[in-house]
Amino acid sequence: MIQDKIKQICQEIGPEVQLLVVTKGRSVEAIEAALAAGHRAFGENRVQEAQEKFAPLRAKYPDIELHMIGPLQTNKVGRAVALFDVIQTLDRPKLAEKVAHEAEKLGKSPRLYIETNVGREAQKAGVAPDQVAAFLAQCHDQWGLDVEGLMAIPPRDEDPVPYFKQMKLLQDNLGLPKLSMGMSSDYMQAVACGASMVRVGRSIFVD
Ligand SMILES: *Cc1c(COP(=O)(O)O)cnc(C)c1O
Repeated sequence: MIQDKIKQICQEIGPEVQLLVVTKGRSVEAIEAALAAGHRAFGENRVQEAQEKFAPLRAKYPDIELHMIGPLQTNKVGRAVALFDVIQTLDRPKLAEKVAHEAEKLGKSPRLYIETNVGREAQKAGVAPDQVAAFLAQCHDQWGLDVEGLMAIPPRDEDPVPYFKQMKLLQDNLGLPKLSMGMSSDYMQAVACGASMVRVGRSIFVD
């Protein structure tokens, strides 16, 4: 049961850590089950899909908190800024510039996380760990963007713990309040390493 699974994970991670229920590819019915259980924070990875599913749900549940956790193209930033409460995938200057521009236009600014390519994987999005400080400063100084935290996805099929620890160090060094890391397979390890938010899909909706 979706409700039971959410309750169980919330107990496991404790009250200090936020559970983001990842609903990409899930039906509106499945999301409604989570809403009925009292859950309100959700993650999606496509603007279009998120809009189709969540715009109607928000009429009924105005306190939904919606997070963008997928790659964001600059031509969709306007819609993303309008729709999402949090964008976790800020990963390049061009995108930051566009977010700042659209936020000003709409008079509404999403909370922002910098996606960090903690494993320095060629195919993966995100800012290299040693570039995050410079990008953070640029976001602030050039576009007036306040960044709340970091988000990372460690390399698949490797022990995530050293990567989680590296992210925690980076967060502390930068003095950022939030750290989003850990998914179905490793959220408890992420919590042990200091995650402030875990993003869980599969183990709520499938397992
Ligand atoms: C899909 C996704 C998740 C959730 O992954 P599960 O393995 O389904 O828990 C978390 N973060 C991001 C960025 C994702 O795309």
